Amino acid sequence: ERLLSESRERLKFAVDSAGLGTWDYDPQTKDLIWDKRCKEIYGYKPTALVDMASFYNVVHSDDRARVENKINDTLLDPKLGEYDAEYRTIPIVGRIKWLKAKGRVYFNENGKAIRFIGTLLDITFQKLVDDATRELLIKKDEFISIASHELRTPITSLKVALQVIERTTSKNEEMKGLQSLVVKSLKQVDKLIELIKDLLDVTKMQAGKLELRKSEFNLGELINECCEELQDQSSKHQLIIEGDANINIYADRNRIEQVLVNLISNATKYSQNSDKVIIKVKQVAKGVKVAITDFGIGIPQSKIPLIFDRFYRVDDNTQRYAGLGLGLYISAEIIRRHNGQINIESKEGKGSTFWFVIPQVTGI
Ligand code: ADP
Repeated sequence: ERLLSESRERLKFAVDSAGLGTWDYDPQTKDLIWDKRCKEIYGYKPTALVDMASFYNVVHSDDRARVENKINDTLLDPKLGEYDAEYRTIPIVGRIKWLKAKGRVYFNENGKAIRFIGTLLDITFQKLVDDATRELLIKKDEFISIASHELRTPITSLKVALQVIERTTSKNEEMKGLQSLVVKSLKQVDKLIELIKDLLDVTKMQAGKLELRKSEFNLGELINECCEELQDQSSKHQLIIEGDANINIYADRNRIEQVLVNLISNATKYSQNSDKVIIKVKQVAKGVKVAITDFGIGIPQSKIPLIFDRFYRVDDNTQRYAGLGLGLYISAEIIRRHNGQINIESKEGKGSTFWFVIPQVTGI
């Protein structure tokens, strides 16, 4: 008895501190009991006598039929048993509340509902926060979209002007000093253009407007091109291609190039203490698999599920490397749009393998 009473005390404490109301309904006699908190939430006095009509009277008219159907279904079907509903009330002291009710029905041996008990929680504040957060996220996306569109034109003009200056200074011996500065500026402008392109891609993907221009092309040739370009930018790593890449695929060449460049440059960027990156191509049952392996810092197991999220960057170590945390999100979206698969295997401190599979292999 003492244990039972202690456990009741604990339960009461938990229910009170969570601000939960409790209710108990007998479907046979139609008796309904609400505790004080439940009555308070629904705007009834603690002494009020209540029944199911008192309940339906305070449920918002737009939600009433849905809630009533749900309750009736739960009371009729022993297989359901659990009840979980979110609904609004009519204005109580001037404002509509959002409530969450959870409950369980107990049935007798003949399958008749004999008791329906549960809890009630006022989730109005949580709903407000959720709505405000959703609105803010939409505004953030709009801002990114407008800002990146607005940035594109001036930066493109800047690039054209710098190219003209670069050409002029390269022809003039006296201006040779200036030329190296212009070349540096051009490189920085190219970086900015890449960042803006990433931001624009993300906005397009968010709006579901990423279009693929598919054609048949040779994957091996594309990988060679990417490696040559990246090798020019960084000579520290040896980019090794393994397997038979002489495979034709039907995909968006530019977008697959974007994925390869993203993954290979990440592989070099996050493996400053090693000197090679392996790009392995293999035909598999579902298409062609490309795996990019580095021997760098790797990714902790707990962070792997988040790695393809927008703006996600593994903190601490990686804050030393420049980036927006968009490359992997964009790569994953491109592969998904090709109905392919993308994933990662990694060991912290040992290195990572990012791989993707493209399904449409065509005859050569
Ligand atoms: P960015 O490199 O611009 O930050 P990405 O979306 O390409 O953005 O990558 C997201 C994060 O994933 C990076 O910030 C880094 O923490 C981690 N990451 C990506 N590739 C690797 C890799 N090859 N090795 C270790 N960490 C990586």
